[in-house]
Amino acid sequence: MEKQERMEYLVELLNKYSYHYYTLDDPLIDDKEYDVLYDELVNLEKELGKILPDSPTNRIGGEILSGFEKHNHLNTLYSLGKAQSKEEVRSWVNKNEEFVRNYNKTHEEKLPELEFCVELKFDGLTINLTYDNGYLSMATTRGNGVIGEVITNQIKTIQSIPLKIEDKRLIEIQGEGLMPLSSLEKYNQTHEVKLKNARNAAAGAIRNLDPAVTKSRNLDAYFYNVNYLEDSELENQAQMIKFLKENHFKVHSYEKTAKSYEEIEKLIDEIFVLRNQIDILTDGVVIKINDFRTREILGYTNKFPRWAIAYKFEPERFTTVVKEVEWNVGRSGKVTPTAILEPVEIGNVTVKRATLNNIDDIERKQVKINSEVFVRRSNDVIPEIMGVVDPNQENTKEIEIPHNCPYCHSELFRNGVHIFCPNSMSCVPQLVKRMVHFASRNAMNIDGLSEKTLELLLDKLNIKSIEEIYDVTKDKLMSLEGFKEKKSQNLINAISKSKDVDLANFIFALGIPEIGEKTSFELAQKYKSFDKFRNAKLEDLIEIEDIGEIMAKEIVEFFNDETISQSIDSLLSKGINIKNPQEIDKKLDGKTFVLTGSLINYSRKELTDILSNLGAKVSSSVSKKTDYVVYGEKAGSKLDKAKELGIELLTEEELNKFLKDL
Ligand code: NAD
Repeated sequence: MEKQERMEYLVELLNKYSYHYYTLDDPLIDDKEYDVLYDELVNLEKELGKILPDSPTNRIGGEILSGFEKHNHLNTLYSLGKAQSKEEVRSWVNKNEEFVRNYNKTHEEKLPELEFCVELKFDGLTINLTYDNGYLSMATTRGNGVIGEVITNQIKTIQSIPLKIEDKRLIEIQGEGLMPLSSLEKYNQTHEVKLKNARNAAAGAIRNLDPAVTKSRNLDAYFYNVNYLEDSELENQAQMIKFLKENHFKVHSYEKTAKSYEEIEKLIDEIFVLRNQIDILTDGVVIKINDFRTREILGYTNKFPRWAIAYKFEPERFTTVVKEVEWNVGRSGKVTPTAILEPVEIGNVTVKRATLNNIDDIERKQVKINSEVFVRRSNDVIPEIMGVVDPNQENTKEIEIPHNCPYCHSELFRNGVHIFCPNSMSCVPQLVKRMVHFASRNAMNIDGLSEKTLELLLDKLNIKSIEEIYDVTKDKLMSLEGFKEKKSQNLINAISKSKDVDLANFIFALGIPEIGEKTSFELAQKYKSFDKFRNAKLEDLIEIEDIGEIMAKEIVEFFNDETISQSIDSLLSKGINIKNPQEIDKKLDGKTFVLTGSLINYSRKELTDILSNLGAKVSSSVSKKTDYVVYGEKAGSKLDKAKELGIELLTEEELNKFLKDL
C-alpha cells in the first residue's frame, strides 16, 4: 500500500476503533494493538509531513454522547503521552534533564533539580468534579478534553466522593471512576450478560443516563489532579496531593518519588507486581515532574502535557492447551461454550476455564481440542481465549457442536451465532437460572432464594414454574434438608414481601430477552402501568429512545407468546401488587438556575435537588442562557454578571413564593 493510502486507511480504522472504545464503551481490539497502529500513524504523519483533519492524533477522547448535558471544563483535561517501552521512558527522562540543564544555563531564576512522582495509571473513566462555594456543583466526563458530559447524579452514587469540602474556592478536581475488581466479579456471578472488563464496566456505568445503573455497579474513584483552583497557592505535586487529602478526596496510597531513570524503573517493576494485589484495574504507571513551574515552562502539545508520561504494561497473555469444551444452558436457553484448560498461572490466579463466547468465535479463532491457545486475563476477570498459537497444529480434534441440549436432550436450534434449547418449560438449568434472575435484588428481591435453594425446590417440591414460588408453604420448606423453623419463616416472609414490587423491577424480573435493568426503568417511566406496557405496540416501542427494533420485537413477541402470557396471568393472580412510578411534574423543564452567595434556608444540595426534580438545570456559571439567579448573602461576581445580563434575580424568599405559585 502507498504510504498516503496507508495513512488514510489507518485514520479510518483507528476512528472506527475509537468509536467503539469511547462512545460505545465496547472495544473491538486490545489497547496494545490499538497503540501499535496509532504509533504507526504518528510515524507516517511525521514522515509525510501532514496530518489528515480527522486524524485521531488531532484530538483527545471521543464523541460527546447526545443524551447528556455539556460542560466546558475550566481547564483542558489532557490525555497522556505514552511510552511503549522502558527505553522510551529513559529517553523522556534524558530529554527533560537536558532541557532543565539548558534552561538553567540561560536563565537567572533556576529550575530545581528534577524530581519525578510515580503513580498508578488507573484504568477507568476520567471524571472531573467542580466544587463551588464548598459544594459539589457538577461532575463531568473528560469528553473531548474541552467539553465533557454532565454526569453529576451518576457520580453522586459513588459514596467516597465528598459532596461538600472545606475549601470554598471554585475548584475542578480530576480523577478516575473505577469498578473494583471484586464488584465486577460479584456482578458477573449474578448476571447472565457478563461485563467484559472493569474499564468498560466503569465507563458504561458512568456514561449511563440512569443513575440507578451506576449505583448498581458499586463504583469507586481515585483522584490525582487539581485541574483548576482559583488563586492557587500550590507549587508542586506533593502540595497538591496534600490539598486533595485535606479536602477528603480519595488518593491512592501509592505515591513515590524518584530522582533518576534507574529509580523510576525500580518503581515501575514494583507497580507491575502490586497491580495484581489490588482491587482496582491499573494499565500502567504515570510519571510526572513534581515542580509546577517546570511543568508550566515545559507546557503542552495539543494532546498531552510534556511534563508527564504514561508507561503502559503489556497485556498478560499466556499459552495453554484446551482439554475439552463444556456447553452450558443460560436462562434464555442460550447454550454457550466454555473451554476447560490445562491450568495456567496468570498473575496470582490459576486459570482453568475460559470463555469461547459462541460458535462463530470458535470458528474464527480456529480453536480445537488440544489446541495451544493464547489466554488473556489482565484486564478481564473472565479469562478469554484470544486465538491459537498455530492454526496448523497437528493432533487436534474439531470441537463438536452439540445438536441436543446437554441437560434435557431437546433438539437445539441455531439463531445467528448462538444455539438455543427450546425447552423453556422444563429444562432444569434454564428454569433455575430464570428463577434466580426473577428473585434477584433488582428484580423481585427475594432474599434467601439462592440458586442452591431453587435447585432444592425444583427437585424436592416439584416446582415447575416461577409463579409456583408463591405457593410454597412453611411446612413444605421445613420438609427440606437444612430448613429449620427460622430459615423457613424468613424465606416465606421474603417471598410474601416481594409481592409489593415497583413496575421497573417487575418488568426486569420477567426476563424479557434483551431487556436489562436500565431499559426496564425507561419502560416503566414511559408506560406507567403494567397493562399499558403489556399491550404496547411495536411502533410505539420503537419511538422510545434507546429501544431499537430488535428490543421492540422481543417485547411484542414475548407478550404474544401464549404460554408466557398465561404464566404472567397466573403470576399476577398470586396477589402481586405492582407499584406504578409517580408522575413527576417537570414544571421547570428547560429552565436554567444559578445559585450564588450563602443561602440560609436551604443547603445548596437541597435546593439543587428540589430544582432538578422539577426538571430545571442548575449550572455553576452565569451566561445568557441562565433564566434565574437565586442569590443569598455575600453574592459576588455571579450576581453582578446576572445584573449586567438582565437575568431575573430571586432572593430565597422570592424563590419560595415562585415555587409555591408553580
Ligand atoms: P489513556 O487513557 O491511556 O491515558 C490518559 C488518561 O489516563 C488520562 O486522561 C487519565 O484519565 C488517566 N489516568 C489514570 N491514572 C492517572 C494518573 N495517575 N495521572 C494522570 N492521569 C491518569 O489515554 P487516552 O487518551 O484517554 O486514551 C488513549 C488510549 O485509549 C490508547 O492508548 C488506547 O490504549 C486506548 N484506546 C483503545 C481503543 C481500543 O479499541 N482498544 C480505542 C481508542 C483508545
